[in-house]
Formats: sequence, structure tokens, C-alpha cells
Amino acid sequence: MSTHIETDCVIVGGGPAGLMTALLLLRQGLAVTVVEKHADFLRDFRGDTIHPSTQELLGELGILDEFLTRPHADMARVSLSWHGTELTLADFSRLPTRRRVMTFMPQWDFLDLLADSATRHPGFRLLRKTRIDDLIRDGGSADGRVVGVTGTGPDGDVIVRARLVIDASGRDSEVRAAAGLTPVGSAAAMDVLWFRLAKHAGETYPFVQAGAGMIITIDRGDFFQIAHVIPAGTWHGTDADLASMQDRIGRISPRMADAATAVTIDDVHLLRVRLERLRRWFTDGMLCLGDSAHAMSPAGGVGINLAIQDAVAAARILGPVLRDGDPTTSDLRRVQRRRAWPTRITQFVQRRLQGPLIASREADAPLPLPLRLLRDHPRLTHLTGRFVGIGARPERLDLT
Ligand SMILES: Cc1cc2nc3c(=O)[nH]c(=O)nc-3n(C[C@H](O)[C@H](O)[C@H](O)COP(=O)(O)OP(=O)(O)OC[C@H]3O[C@@H](n4cnc5c(N)ncnc54)[C@H](O)[C@@H]3O)c2cc1C
Repeated sequence: MSTHIETDCVIVGGGPAGLMTALLLLRQGLAVTVVEKHADFLRDFRGDTIHPSTQELLGELGILDEFLTRPHADMARVSLSWHGTELTLADFSRLPTRRRVMTFMPQWDFLDLLADSATRHPGFRLLRKTRIDDLIRDGGSADGRVVGVTGTGPDGDVIVRARLVIDASGRDSEVRAAAGLTPVGSAAAMDVLWFRLAKHAGETYPFVQAGAGMIITIDRGDFFQIAHVIPAGTWHGTDADLASMQDRIGRISPRMADAATAVTIDDVHLLRVRLERLRRWFTDGMLCLGDSAHAMSPAGGVGINLAIQDAVAAARILGPVLRDGDPTTSDLRRVQRRRAWPTRITQFVQRRLQGPLIASREADAPLPLPLRLLRDHPRLTHLTGRFVGIGARPERLDLT
């Protein structure tokens, strides 16, 4: 059996970029099908930070109250302990937004909220457990306009034809490859180890702790989710790697030492950090958004925010075009022009941050210059708060 769908826009990938773009196009009266290869959004070790600007958008969409009913924790400023010196990295308290906090919410709860909101629109379809692996080209020729996608779902072949294909299927996108779009960039200087750590009632830690390396601690209520920054290529998953990681955790944060000894190799997930972006985000009939267009480093936790901002720009520019006809390559180029600059700026800052992140491993590592500036001029923490919390080029909704 095969499934055939005709729609205004098909979006490959039900992540933050895909679901937000869907919701914003649906609100403009368009029909949208989102295709997601997983059965649910329940994936661990993904971005969890919902920035003030994203919450502002949720407010404009009338779903902020619903968002706040889901499990979350707020953070008004990002704190750092550098070899025992405490300082603030970013302060959100003066942002011109209705919520002046960074909110941690498991990504699956956030995606459920977006999918639930999209479901209220009649033109929405979400095909789960469906993997897209190819494009349909006009006239069947290799360089024809992209007019749909094909893949496999629980009931067999899936064919979705649309006037616009959006690829929001993340940093390893197969769809992007099928379109012949290849990102440029490189592996970053650092990798990140993710694992859970047992938590005792009432136990707290600074968000970032630097000593014999760096630990970022996300309080998930009954456990801690830890991100441990290591130089790229130094984790091979051996017993020796594990023992040296446990030793480092104990030296960075002695109170964590006991819990760290319970971590096994199977508990540790390696994220190979990549900083990449497409030179051209589109081909005729298809546009890449979010991580598919630009894989970000987790530094600053801005990946979701950028993906959401891409979605807002794309829906604002392309929604009206889709209501009248088929988007042209110059319409798609307008989205790239709008979003390429904040992507470049953010990646530039992330690249600069890698040095201090790695340098923190040295026992006598002096406080790096940017951190000294933040310590000596606390007002700057409002600027960093703005950059992290709102981003380089915040997008306005302005949907007609
Ligand atoms: C370990 C880790 C930690 C991170 N931490 C943070 C953080 O703290 N804060 C932050 O802001 N960002 C963080 N990020 C980055 C953030 O998760 C991403 O930038 C963000 O999720 C990008 O959103 P997206 O919608 O573009 O892509 P994704 O979230 O990657 O979503 C892509 C979706 O497409 C689906 N898909 C893929 N291929 C196909 C296919 N062929 N057919 C159908 N569906 C497909 C996937 O299942 C997925 O649901 C982290 C990333 C990782 C990996």
C-alpha cells in the first residue's frame, strides 16, 4: 500500500525548525504536511534551552501559558565557576521581553506543544515513523524543480507532492544531500560528552563549572544532565577514557565525584561538534532551514533559537507567496539573505568561545580575557544576555 498526499508545503523533519515553520504557515491558512522519521519526540540529549525570544514568540502565538504548564526550570542569569572564581556570563533581567529568563524544557515537551498547536489547524498532517529519502523532480529530470518527496512509512511507500519542500531534517540531512547541497565548515576543536548523573534532593551546582575541563549542569528535577567539554577526537569509549573522565569530573566538581563513579561507558553519548553551513540554502522548489542549513556548536545553547528564528523569517516571507502561487528561487534566496548573517555572526562567536572552553583544562588556567571583562564590567553581562537570549537578528512575526 502507498500513501499519496498533495499539499501546499511539505516539511521534512519534526524538530524545532520544522514544527515552528509548519505552525506559522498553517496560521496563514496553508496546508502543511510534516514528515518525521521517529514515532515520537522522546529523544534524550538534545537542545533543551528555550530562549526569551522564543518565549516571546510563543506569547505572540497565544501558547505561552500552555508552554508554562509543561515541566520546566527558569534561569535568570548564566553563572560560571572558573577554578573557584564565580561570575555571571549572561544576565537576562533587562531584556525587552515578557519573560526575562532562559527556560529549560525537555525538547520532546516543547515539540509536543508545537505539534499539539499545529493539530488545531485543519490543513495539518504529521506523518510519524516515516523516513524521506528522495526528492521528486518536475519532469523526472535530475535538474528539474523539486515538487515533492518520497520515503517509507509504516504502511509502505509515501509520496508527498507540494509547491514547496522545506528540509528541516537536521545536521545529517539525507534530503539536503539528495538535492546536491553540501555544507562547508569543519569539525570543531571540541567534542561534548553527555550523560546523566544521579541527584540528591536539594543538590545544586553553578550552570558552568570550569576546572580540569568544563561541565555544564542542567537540572532535570530528579537527575542532572551533564555536558562535559573535551578536546575533539579524545574520546574513544575505552575504560581508560571513562576513568580519566570520572577523575576530571571529581576534580572540577568534588561533590559530583561519587555520582560520577556510577557512570558507565554505555551511559556516555559523544556529540561530535560541527560548525557548518550551506553556501546556498535552496534549490528550485526546496529550502533548508535550521541545522540542515547550519549545524551549530552547543556553545551558548543557541541552536533551537536559531532554528526558530529561521522558521519565523521563512514563514513571514514565504507564507504570502505560497498563498498566491509557487515560490521562486528569488523568494527562497530572500530567506537565506535574511538568516545567513545572524548565522555567520553566531558561528564566529562560537568558534571564539572554543579556546576558553578547552583552555579551562589547565590547572593554572588564567581567566580568559572575555571572562575578565565580564567580571570587571558586570554591565556587559546584559549585552551577553541580549546576544544569547534574543540573538543577532531577532525576527518579528508580522504574519498577514
Ligand atoms: C546533544 C545535543 C545537545 C544540544 N544542546 C543544545 C542546547 O542546549 N540548546 C540549543 O539551543 N541547542 C542545542 N543543541 C542543538 C539543537 O538541538 C539543534 O540546533 C536544534 O534541535 C535544531 O533544530 P532543527 O529543527 O533544525 O533540527 P533537529 O532538531 O535535528 O530536527 C530534525 C528532525 O528531523 C528528523 N529527520 C531527520 N532525517 C529525517 C528523514 N530523512 N525523514 C524524516 N525525518 C527526518 C529527525 O528525527 C528530527 O526530529 C544540541 C544538539 C545536540 C545534538
